[in-house]
Amino acid sequence: MTWNKEGIPHKGWHCIDVEDLADLVDGTEEIPYEQCEMCGNERIRFVHLMQHPDYPHELRVGCVCAEKMSDDYVNPRKAEDVLRKRASRRKNFNNKEWRFNPEKQTYSKKYKGEYITIKKSRYGNFGIFFANERFWNYNGKKFYSFESAERAAFEIFEELHTTQAEREHQYWLSRRNYYGE
Ligand SMILES: [Zn+2]
Repeated sequence: MTWNKEGIPHKGWHCIDVEDLADLVDGTEEIPYEQCEMCGNERIRFVHLMQHPDYPHELRVGCVCAEKMSDDYVNPRKAEDVLRKRASRRKNFNNKEWRFNPEKQTYSKKYKGEYITIKKSRYGNFGIFFANERFWNYNGKKFYSFESAERAAFEIFEELHTTQAEREHQYWLSRRNYYGE
């Protein structure tokens, strides 16, 4: 057990990132669980990436160890909660099926009141249309398969989706400016 290994500090770690391993696969594949690098026991889905000023490597650990190492019994769980909710939003997004429009050769879905569309370009890659914008890549990555476009569609939706209330508010603001108030 690493907790007993010499040279590895027990306290004074801080978390630099938390990953959800389930986010790497789609709903049908098995989650690539990892073993906690601190205790070796936990079968982890959420990896807390821990860093220490006196230790040269980052450690990938589970929630229980992350709590002890950082002496923080609130934020590690909170971070997992945020990712868990995101995962469930992604699942809901993916459960809503794309509708193929043979005329336009597009795949669209209406989700939470907004349309999002995927279209194959004549070069074979895919583009995403949402909120009056076109995306031919996301974070610098082009979409060479429908699946990769679908993954990015969720990210883009998360980033740009506005609620009905927000849209009405924006509309109201634009009207107000229009009338020069
Ligand atoms: Zn552990």
